[in-house]
Amino acid sequence: LFIAETNLGGEPRENQAINLPTGIKDINQLRVLTALREQPGLSRAAIARQTGLGKATISTMVADFIDRGLIHEVGPDVQQAMLGRRPVRLELNGAAYYAIGIELTGNECIAVLTDLRGNPLRVLRDSMPVTSVEYSLEIAARSVNELIRGHDRAKLLGVGVGIPGTVDSVLQRVILAENLGWVDIPFGALLAERIGLTVLLVNRTNAGATGEFWHGNGMGVGSLFYVSIGVGIGAGIIIGGVPYEGANGSAGEIGHVTVDPNGRRCKCGNTGCLETLASTSAIVMRAKERIGEGECSLLADWSNHDLERITGKMVADAATAGDSLATSVIQEAGGYLGIALANVINLLNPALIVVDGDLLVLGDVFLTPVRQAVERRAFTIPASAVDIVPSALQHQAAAIGAASVVIDRSFAAGHRLFG
Ligand SMILES: [Zn+2]
Repeated sequence: LFIAETNLGGEPRENQAINLPTGIKDINQLRVLTALREQPGLSRAAIARQTGLGKATISTMVADFIDRGLIHEVGPDVQQAMLGRRPVRLELNGAAYYAIGIELTGNECIAVLTDLRGNPLRVLRDSMPVTSVEYSLEIAARSVNELIRGHDRAKLLGVGVGIPGTVDSVLQRVILAENLGWVDIPFGALLAERIGLTVLLVNRTNAGATGEFWHGNGMGVGSLFYVSIGVGIGAGIIIGGVPYEGANGSAGEIGHVTVDPNGRRCKCGNTGCLETLASTSAIVMRAKERIGEGECSLLADWSNHDLERITGKMVADAATAGDSLATSVIQEAGGYLGIALANVINLLNPALIVVDGDLLVLGDVFLTPVRQAVERRAFTIPASAVDIVPSALQHQAAAIGAASVVIDRSFAAGHRLFG
């Protein structure tokens, strides 16, 4: 899909700092590999049709790629195919290269090693008691070393890092990551220096969207909206198969869309932002308020009547246990999320909305009010096109997506790759 099309005949993308392994620069070769990445199992003839290249050219290229271990022939029909009964199917050789994706969530570091096809091979999950730059560099470097142990380091394409904030993906700097307490940090360069590998930074919800697009419930869905609910709320947008980052990298701030003009003050300065009504912190706050007003709830007992001890997980657990206050607070939050998503549906007409985050354990308790609000409010035609589903990758979506971004970049025209 993307890069080959958007860059065909154009200038190389700006990112001169990226230093991927040397190799293929030929745009037609990249088109063939990209076709196989998007549609594993294509035959030589199908690749020729898709790329518009001649069959003889494709045959030569494929033979060369097979020699170099980049692709291989697959399927139970290889034998028959050799006899000319069926076309031989081809796919990328996953083991040819690896990528690593890391997500810094604000309290965890989730790291994954994937093969060239983006299949996760190994996942590490560490809690992060502090979020200083130095500690983050250390835990990221440690995760990388742990993940590639036993694999050929020369086959590692690079490391993608999902950041909970706005990043400059050209200069590989974090512009602002409030949850980490970072302002203008050249984290990409610092980590690259520390580990001696190519590093690409990406916003974590954009990474989540990319992960769902390549490997989750959004596989192959060209217009996809991914929303992650935690202590904050953020979204990643894919339009026409291409991640959409906006003019300066801050598209997808759905947490700060106004859903109640007379609502509570948000940390961004606005009032009634979605985040003040539907994040896990908003849910906790609302539960505390209602218990404080005298309503009964399991949460009062569970917290020994010290309401400050109530957490998002406790509210979710109480809802699962049938507690009516917890259920109602969560349904109310789902309703507000639905209002915001109805606006997204009217604006973008996505085919799929993937919902991720801590409240997913609740399943339909949370998603039903979301869908109901959408049904009530979204315009009929775009609403009829959209499915709202939970994430398939859950806590791994952004890390897998960050690895996919590295693979994307490796397939991009103008970049050298695949030695
Ligand atoms: Zn706000």
